[in-house]
Amino acid sequence: MTLPFTLGHENAGWVEKMGPGATGFAPGDPVIVYGPWGCGLCMSCRQGMENYCQTPGKPSPGGLGGTDGGMADYLLVRATRYLIPLGDLGKRLSEVPKDEPIIVHCKSGGRSAKACDLLRQSGYKNVLNMKGGTLLWSDKVDPSVAKY
Ligand SMILES: [Zn+2]
Repeated sequence: MTLPFTLGHENAGWVEKMGPGATGFAPGDPVIVYGPWGCGLCMSCRQGMENYCQTPGKPSPGGLGGTDGGMADYLLVRATRYLIPLGDLGKRLSEVPKDEPIIVHCKSGGRSAKACDLLRQSGYKNVLNMKGGTLLWSDKVDPSVAKY
């Protein structure tokens, strides 16, 4: 890991921009970012189980493959296979780790509250909603966080 390093491996937000060749999402789509990024090539990854990657953390160890995390204005996600449309959360709960704390945030706290309710109703115990979202965070905590 190279310092400085931005923390944040459990993320949700909106697609800002798509990279070359990326498909299936559009700017503005609300998404959850799947955290355990694998190599994408080993048998486990090719079966859709990157959390069991046989060479985890490539190119470097840590959540999100060792890249900077989501406690920043923007998070670079290497592949759309790591994105879960927020509207699909209920159908894809098996991809959200139950044994880790989850903080859900969105622009104003409304959609993240709904996601938290769904997670709690599905047995998730350690779920927190960032009330007021990034708008309040920008007003009260860190004015350098962009409002959008
Ligand atoms: Zn792998």
